[in-house]
Amino acid sequence: MTNVHSPTGDPSDRGQRAWTQVVLSGMKNKVPNVLSRKDQFGERERFDSDTIWEEETIAQKIMAQRATAMIQNTLFMETVLFSFKASDFQHHTEAFKLVNDNVGEIISGRPITKYGNPQRNELIIEVKFCDPTNGTKAVKEGFVFKDILYKGVPANDGANDKLVRLSLSQLPFFVSRQELSDGLRQSLGRFGKVCQVKRLTNRGYFEGEAVVILDISPQDDAPWHQLERRLHLATWDIVVPASFKGAPPICFLCRQSGHIRKNCPRLEHVTCFNCKGKGHYARHCPEPKATEGQQLDDYLESTQKVSEKVRDQQGRTTKRAKATKEQVVIETPSNDGINKSQLHAETATSDAQSTETDQGEMDEVEYEEIMETDRNNTSAATTKRKLPKKVGSSKMVRKTVINAFKATSKRTGNGTTPLIQKQQLLKQLHEQQAASQANGQDLSGFSILPPTTDPASGRLAHD
Ligand SMILES: [Zn+2]
Ligand SMILES: [Zn+2]
Repeated sequence: MTNVHSPTGDPSDRGQRAWTQVVLSGMKNKVPNVLSRKDQFGERERFDSDTIWEEETIAQKIMAQRATAMIQNTLFMETVLFSFKASDFQHHTEAFKLVNDNVGEIISGRPITKYGNPQRNELIIEVKFCDPTNGTKAVKEGFVFKDILYKGVPANDGANDKLVRLSLSQLPFFVSRQELSDGLRQSLGRFGKVCQVKRLTNRGYFEGEAVVILDISPQDDAPWHQLERRLHLATWDIVVPASFKGAPPICFLCRQSGHIRKNCPRLEHVTCFNCKGKGHYARHCPEPKATEGQQLDDYLESTQKVSEKVRDQQGRTTKRAKATKEQVVIETPSNDGINKSQLHAETATSDAQSTETDQGEMDEVEYEEIMETDRNNTSAATTKRKLPKKVGSSKMVRKTVINAFKATSKRTGNGTTPLIQKQQLLKQLHEQQAASQANGQDLSGFSILPPTTDPASGRLAHD
């Protein structure tokens, strides 16, 4: 139960908050699941209802509404409805005769329950009296049949009233029947005319759930307050979840009412991992799922960006590294036109940076070195580098790619096809690289070399 009391719990603070503030604070909250059909033990909830208060004419109104709902049509003017037990008759026309004999001559009638539920022991008929005064008599006095008093219901009286069945939960479960009825009638009076209050009990226990029938037919003076998924009950100063037909939807993402998941404002800030679009998660991406190769390309691109950023921040270190690049050049066989000195400069840069960058950047650098290791296993210095145990930002993607590369390398060692795939992937990459180079861009931040093979064994270089 969301209590809107002041955080201090001091009741004297209550008066200082505007009523609208109290209500609004309740509305901002999430809407919990209301009246779930099954409990945590998987059993279907069975509630017994106990009518604790009702308006005199509500039974008639409900019957008129049920009849209207069954035939999916309006009832005729000046007709009268009767509801009998179906088991008391052999044929529904016997009910017409019963009314004709006990109240007055009828022109004719029709069985409404013909369109209803055959499982129910119920026979609702609509009849029209020759003399309209007999209709009034049927409604006011009725007649006795098998010791039961049957009264007619004017078919159009209340049939057009807008009755709403409101299910409430999280009510105070320790109040008496009278307190509950009074409290609900008092608190819900703003939303409509309370016609009936039913307390729901679960195996004899009242657990704070109730059903209220509200008449929300438009009235002449002030309009009713609109029903919401969370209603403020002034009697107890609580906001409780409510459910009713035509209630505003509840968003499955943020669980606030008033919009569906698709229109959730939270999605504005979400970027899809699949298509990089805004406003949805990869799980709901309309684009085809990116292949591993595309994901790798995307990853490598992002790596390059990060490397450039790091290098910009560490300009001083880069200069120092460039000065020492001659010392770390290692001859590796490569059939690619990439400037090796630049690439090895990056290796040196990385070494220099690792002392000064933060953990996230260090991971980036270390990762690059591992990738180097993967190709240049002739370099004793880098081969000794271990996979970073602690992985920083974007760790999952990085780790995945590292593992993928390792796995690929191992498999290619046995002369299987993934080597070709890997080469194709990197070929694409190098084409992009070459294009960038042609535009005069500095690619020294780009640390990925093509898969190099040991000319002697033809195997992919791998430690
Ligand atoms: Zn939402
Ligand atoms: Zn997407």
